[in-house]
Amino acid sequence: MASTVQFHAATSLEDALERLDQLGSEARVLAGGTDLMIQLQGGQLSPRELVHIHAVPGLADFAVDEQGLRPGAMVTHENLWRHAGADDFTSLSEAARQVGGWQTQSIGTVVGNVVNASPAGDLLPSLLVHEAVLHLARSGNERTVPMSEFLLGRRQTAREPEELVTKITMGPVPAGAAEAFVKVGRRRAMEVSVVAVAVRLVMDPSSGVITDARIAVGAASAVPLPGGRC
Ligand SMILES: Cc1cc2nc3c(=O)[nH]c(=O)nc-3n(C[C@H](O)[C@H](O)[C@H](O)COP(=O)(O)OP(=O)(O)OC[C@H]3O[C@@H](n4cnc5c(N)ncnc54)[C@H](O)[C@@H]3O)c2cc1C
Repeated sequence: MASTVQFHAATSLEDALERLDQLGSEARVLAGGTDLMIQLQGGQLSPRELVHIHAVPGLADFAVDEQGLRPGAMVTHENLWRHAGADDFTSLSEAARQVGGWQTQSIGTVVGNVVNASPAGDLLPSLLVHEAVLHLARSGNERTVPMSEFLLGRRQTAREPEELVTKITMGPVPAGAAEAFVKVGRRRAMEVSVVAVAVRLVMDPSSGVITDARIAVGAASAVPLPGGRC
């Protein structure tokens, strides 16, 4: 890690956005740090400042209700699998449960997994299946970007350096839906995905007909492939 890197513990959203606005690409958002710290130590990145968002009020908010699922920027994988699976987001919950070991799950965030944009990011296929939307804020401006447009390539996203992802939103899981997430790696625990697949089928209970089918494949290309809806 560069010895000159500064650390700024943001105390509010405005504070974090102001630092990002002033420093642009010379700043990096620090959430759980499970990707970022490794990249800093490996010399892949050399920002002037890390803007830590751990203490920013509201970013750890998590909601799951009739409107869907809304994890804030500091919601961890553990938060997600403990609370989302009971409300039918089973592929997402299962993916979060398979990110590394419990240490990684208890500090690594859902949003960090997305912004890191690794082709092998385990949450990405399921977020595509759920047509997740990212909420990005910068000083004086907010916008939303669908997951399918956010991921542009390996480690490349539609996020501007001055933007902070504040939360992800997904609509409710329809009645009659069933989901699965399967990850294949080289070993049985703490493996990087060789391929990962998320699937959601919706069946009309009266006719038994599948009315909506979605599939997304991760780790097999630079950007996870939304296999689309049939
Ligand atoms: C031992 C180990 C095992 C792992 N196993 C897996 C695995 O099995 N599957 C898997 O998918 N991943 C795995 N990971 C990777 C990692 O845990 C996840 O990608 C994690 O979700 C990243 O979240 P974070 O909060 O730690 O992000 P950070 O490391 O803090 O940040 C990651 C990137 O996102 C940016 N960022 C974070 N939050 C925001 C925000 N709100 N707005 C804008 N930019 C932001 C950062 O600037 C950085 O570029 C593993 C990591 C470790 C260390």
